Amino acid sequence: MAIFENLSERLQAAFKRLRGKGKVTEEDVSEVMREIRVALLEADVSYKVVKDFIKKVKERAVGQEVLASLTPAQQVIKIVHEELIELLGGIQSRLTTAPKPPTVIMLVGLQGAGKTTSAGKLANLLRKQGKKPLLVAADIYRPAAVKQLQVLGEQLQIPVFAMGTSVSAVNIAKGALEYAASHGRDMVIIDTAGRLHINEELMQELQDIKAAIKPHEILLVVDAMTGQTAVEVAETFNAQLGIDGVIMTKLDGDAKGGAALSVRAVTGKPIKFAGMGEKLDALEPFYPDRLASRILG
Ligand code: GDP
Repeated sequence: MAIFENLSERLQAAFKRLRGKGKVTEEDVSEVMREIRVALLEADVSYKVVKDFIKKVKERAVGQEVLASLTPAQQVIKIVHEELIELLGGIQSRLTTAPKPPTVIMLVGLQGAGKTTSAGKLANLLRKQGKKPLLVAADIYRPAAVKQLQVLGEQLQIPVFAMGTSVSAVNIAKGALEYAASHGRDMVIIDTAGRLHINEELMQELQDIKAAIKPHEILLVVDAMTGQTAVEVAETFNAQLGIDGVIMTKLDGDAKGGAALSVRAVTGKPIKFAGMGEKLDALEPFYPDRLASRILG
């Protein structure tokens, strides 16, 4: 992953200071922590997240356990690894599924984040898991968005429920649930409208859809390339709408990775999926432990 290469190198350089040392002092640990702190800030991790992270690691690392250890470098790396996993959400966060199908997933986000593409990718992933997805075109403001979803559906051979752009998004969503029930589709993925910026109208419409159909999952799609803006967007959507998780797209790009490392700590909501490319199979469940291992190299 190009995205964390820089951070990875910086962390390894920091740990080098401890390697081969028979005994480390509190001062040694502090020096390493300073370097990790700078590396995380340069990777665009939120300031407060970095502060809390360093505090936690330091508290554990200056404990007798490490200072008295014969392998202090490994001990510190282990602590950083564990705290990174924690920062990324601990265990993998799965989708909530409905006790009685269909499970309804609402995708929300700003225009360009990768929402429509992610809807197609998610449908594709769920189908591979034996599900019968239905894609729903509820972006009534952009005829091109409806068309884009229909094209994706054709490519994937997955049905797309659309009612054009003159029916309200709430009614489209309701109609889609009826269609799913009568056609045996057990996963309904609703592609909602995005805007260039968060505004009241957008939030109101999303709140109306949420109230009308009570989705099991509201997933916010954010673009990792937008860095801290992605984290702010997540905070706002979570405060105003309530989200259950995040799909972080464009993790295949050369973003610094700060958004991926900050969003869970800032919003309390986990990343559930990672977008790893433009292709329709480039969506992966998000595994905090694997990513932490990759970051530590
Ligand atoms: P929407 O406006 O949020 O519905 O965004 P789109 O789904 O139309 O995606 C916007 C652009 O981002 C498209 O060119 C997608 O191919 C691209 N995109 C979406 N997800 C990813 C991803 O994970 N990686 C990369 N490299 N590109 C992506």
